[in-house]
Amino acid sequence: MTSYDTTGHASLSSAEAADLAARIAGPVWLPGDDGYQADCATFNLMTPVRPAVAVGATGVADVRAAVRFAAGRDLPVAVLATGHQVVGEAGGAVLINLSRMDAVHVDPGRRLARVEGGARWHQVLDEAGEHGLAGVSGASPTVGVVGYHLGGGHSPILGRTHGYAADHVQAVEIVTADGESRRVTATSERDLFWALRGGKGNFGVVTALEFSLFPVERFYGGGLFFAGEHAAEVLRTWREWTTGLPLETTSSIAFLRRPPLPGVPEPLRGTFVVHVRFSSLLPAEEAERLLAPMRAIAPPVLDTIADTPYRMARTLHMDPPRPAPWVERSSALRDFPGEAADALLREIGPDSGTRLGFVEVRLLDGALARPPAVPNAVSGRNARWALIASGAGAPDQAPVFRAQLAALAGALAPWTQDEMNANLLTASQGTTLDELRAAYGRERYDRLAAIKKRYDPRNLFRVNHNIAPA
Ligand SMILES: Cc1cc2nc3c(=O)[nH]c(=O)nc-3n(C[C@H](O)[C@H](O)[C@H](O)COP(=O)(O)OP(=O)(O)OC[C@H]3O[C@@H](n4cnc5c(N)ncnc54)[C@H](O)[C@@H]3O)c2cc1C
Repeated sequence: MTSYDTTGHASLSSAEAADLAARIAGPVWLPGDDGYQADCATFNLMTPVRPAVAVGATGVADVRAAVRFAAGRDLPVAVLATGHQVVGEAGGAVLINLSRMDAVHVDPGRRLARVEGGARWHQVLDEAGEHGLAGVSGASPTVGVVGYHLGGGHSPILGRTHGYAADHVQAVEIVTADGESRRVTATSERDLFWALRGGKGNFGVVTALEFSLFPVERFYGGGLFFAGEHAAEVLRTWREWTTGLPLETTSSIAFLRRPPLPGVPEPLRGTFVVHVRFSSLLPAEEAERLLAPMRAIAPPVLDTIADTPYRMARTLHMDPPRPAPWVERSSALRDFPGEAADALLREIGPDSGTRLGFVEVRLLDGALARPPAVPNAVSGRNARWALIASGAGAPDQAPVFRAQLAALAGALAPWTQDEMNANLLTASQGTTLDELRAAYGRERYDRLAAIKKRYDPRNLFRVNHNIAPA
């Protein structure tokens, strides 16, 4: 029988764990076991997980057995692929770690990728790149391909021409709360197919995903890093400049305060810089002409703009390659006028005294604003910009980061909209039910909740941005 620990969460006896282990080919760990920490490791060290048991799944049979075990005891199921966006501590849960299920197969003839539930983007960049193909990949090469697609998936290079990654999913293989494995496509279980693409991990454990690839071999782009003293001029020029960019070209701007640590490249170490990211699918000369107004501002302290193979898309944002502790908060902006830029600068400019090491504004729009060929649950298509901010440091600094993130969100509130993409939802601060409903919009949320009731009536999959069964 399941017992409970001092925090009120379910805990398993070693006999129960042995019973589970007998049904599973991969390892099964209780708290205190040697492998428990490694299978519970998150990328954001500020969001640790402490499940009742961690299962290292090696295949669909393991996932089915783990889900059935959890369902039989009414324990929640938590899914961890890479740990980039784990929501909550997973107390009392059966955590299914998918990192051992990371096969990637590219079919160049059909321009199709098939990935297992724990695959990471750098694998697809490499495999598809071999054939001159690309998926609608995100900024970070270490992010999970499946988690990214389930939340929508905004690509900083291909988003404005191709829309959200979720729009190009062809099939989802999933183990649902009843322990069954299903193959879900546009022509089978249509409601579930709609919900899975945007509704995140609410409907089961995705064991494999198939999605379209596109013939994209290169882009022209990289970063211009300007000294912080030019922040105001760079932001104002960037804001006006981006509104005239063709769809094949896109940009984001990041305000970086990097610590004086040896791992940080020299011109950025211990300084405040403004990182203008630029990418274009146009020929290099044409793209370089478009970039001219930004280059005219000042000589950059670092310039990484070059014609680049698409597989090196991983270098565009220079996202952190290793786990770190951070607190983040993001919002979707419907507009970003000059007043908004001024408000942003007051919060995070050179004289603000902010401790936020990373604040990014991303240009959206283009194909991201269009409805997909096969409707899905991706929210926030009407946002024209995304604001993503974080503070990284020891856990005792978290309250300061939270306060400064709240002040930043407040300053940009006049231009912020409620509906936003699920991948923008914060993991480290939690999201209330009202915020989640608002992020999806009432109609979309209600439809998701009705589908959740059909496929997961007891809300087994609730260690996430939870859509409760209607
Ligand atoms: C540095 C960084 C850069 C990012 N850049 C982008 C970007 O450019 N564009 C963008 O759209 N997003 C971006 N994201 C957000 C990212 O797409 C989400 O955080 C995504 O959920 C991460 O998935 P994961 O598998 O890596 O993480 P995990 O923490 O392992 O998973 C997060 C959640 O996704 C669900 N999930 C993951 N895999 C499965 C599965 N196989 N089956 C069922 N549920 C699953 C689960 O609910 C899980 O708790 C970024 C995040 C970070 C930290």
